[in-house]
Amino acid sequence: MSGILLKGGRVIDPARGLDGVADVLIRDGMIAEVGADLSAHGSEPVDAAGFVVAPGFVDMHCHLREPGHEYKETIATGTRAAALGGFTAVAPMANTEPVNDNAAVTAFILDRARREGAARVLPVGAVTKGLLGRELTQMGELKAAGCVALSDDGHAVSTARMMRLALQYASQFGLLVIDHCEEPTLTQGGAMNEGVLSTILGLAGIPGAAEEIIVARDIALAASLGLRVHLTHLSTAGSVALVREAKARGVRVTADTCPHYVAATEALIGDYDTNAKVNPPLRGEADRAAVIAGLVDGTLDCIATDHAPHHADEKNVEFDLAANGISGFESAFTLCHTALVASDAMTLPALIEKMSLAPARVLGTRLGTLTPGAAADIVVLDPGASSVIDPDTFCSKGKNSPFRGFAGKGRVVHTLLGGRFVVRDGALAV
Ligand SMILES: [Zn+2]
Repeated sequence: MSGILLKGGRVIDPARGLDGVADVLIRDGMIAEVGADLSAHGSEPVDAAGFVVAPGFVDMHCHLREPGHEYKETIATGTRAAALGGFTAVAPMANTEPVNDNAAVTAFILDRARREGAARVLPVGAVTKGLLGRELTQMGELKAAGCVALSDDGHAVSTARMMRLALQYASQFGLLVIDHCEEPTLTQGGAMNEGVLSTILGLAGIPGAAEEIIVARDIALAASLGLRVHLTHLSTAGSVALVREAKARGVRVTADTCPHYVAATEALIGDYDTNAKVNPPLRGEADRAAVIAGLVDGTLDCIATDHAPHHADEKNVEFDLAANGISGFESAFTLCHTALVASDAMTLPALIEKMSLAPARVLGTRLGTLTPGAAADIVVLDPGASSVIDPDTFCSKGKNSPFRGFAGKGRVVHTLLGGRFVVRDGALAV
C-alpha cells in the first residue's frame, strides 16, 4: 500500500474554510488530494464516515520533562500521550534540567524526538540563561538549533527591563516571546485562587491581579516597541479585557488559554484535591465565562494544554506543598469539546482552528492545515461519542488530572503523523 484514503468523513480545514463530506488522499506522507469520491489507486481505504477529519492539533505550550525529569515524563511517553490526544505537534517549554537555554540541549531534544517521538516536537528555548532572569540567552544560536519560540515559562520574564530587551533581541531573529504572566511578589506562598473559597479552605490565595499586572506590562512593552508578544495560559476576566482592548488598538499581542480554565473552576479543588493545583490557579465562574467569551470573539487566539505531568509523590502531599500542574494531553479535546461545542458556545470548526491552525500560525509554522502538499498530520474525531476521563488509562507518566470521572462528549479516534497512523481506533499504533 502506497498511501491511505480516508473516505467519507466530515472534513474540516479552517485554513481553507472547508467543512463538508469528502475523501482525503494521503501519499508519501503528504496530503495529495481532498475531494469527493476519490479513487484509492492502490492506497489503503479507511472508512471515516460519521467522523470528523481535521488537521492534527498543535500544542504551543507543554512540558515533556526530558532532559532531567524523566521520572515525570519523557519525550517518548509525552509525545505518545500527545498523539492519543490528537496532537501531531507539541512545543515543550524550556524548564528542563538542564534548561533548554543553549543549542546542545535543543539538539538533544530534537534528536530524541526524531528517534522516539510520536509527534513533531517544536522546542521552546529559554529567554534568559537558566530561566534566572539575569542574562539573555544566545537567541540566534537557539533559533539555528531549531527553537520555534522563547519563554521563561514557570515564571514571568523577571523584570520589565529584561522583557523589553528580550522582545527587542528576539525580534532580530524572528522569534516569538511567550510569557507566563504572574507577578512573583503576589503569587509567593499562594496555593489557589484568592477569594471566598481560599478563605474557607484556609489556603493562601493568588489574586487575579498577579496575572493582569504582567499582562498589562507586556502589552505596554509590545505597544511601545511595535513588536509581537504572546501571553500564555490566561485565566482571568481582567486579562481577557486587557488583551481585547490592546488588540482593538492594534497592539501585536496574541494569547492562549488552557482546557482547564475553559472546563473548570476552583470548585474542582473540592476536598483539597492537589491534582487541581495549577499555575495560574483555577479561577471562579465569572473568569471562566470571560475566558470562553474571549475564545469566541477571537481575543484569545488559541488553546494550549500546559500539559504538566508530575509523579504521584509530588501530588500526594499537603496542598501547600504539592507541585503545580495538570497532565493535559489526553483530556484536552473532550474537555474543550464538551465545554465549548457541546454547550453551543462555539462551533466545531472554530474549536479545531483554536487547536490546530491558530497555534501553528502563532508559532510561524506551516502546520495545521489539510491543504494538498502539506504534511499529512491529521486527527480523526468522533464528536458524538461519550467519553469518561480516566487518568489511570493515560499513556502519560503523569496521572495528575483533577478530571477523573468527567463525563463529556467527543473523543479522538485516529491520529496520523506524516501519513502514518500513530493512533488507530483510540489505541497507540507505534
Ligand atoms: Zn506557565
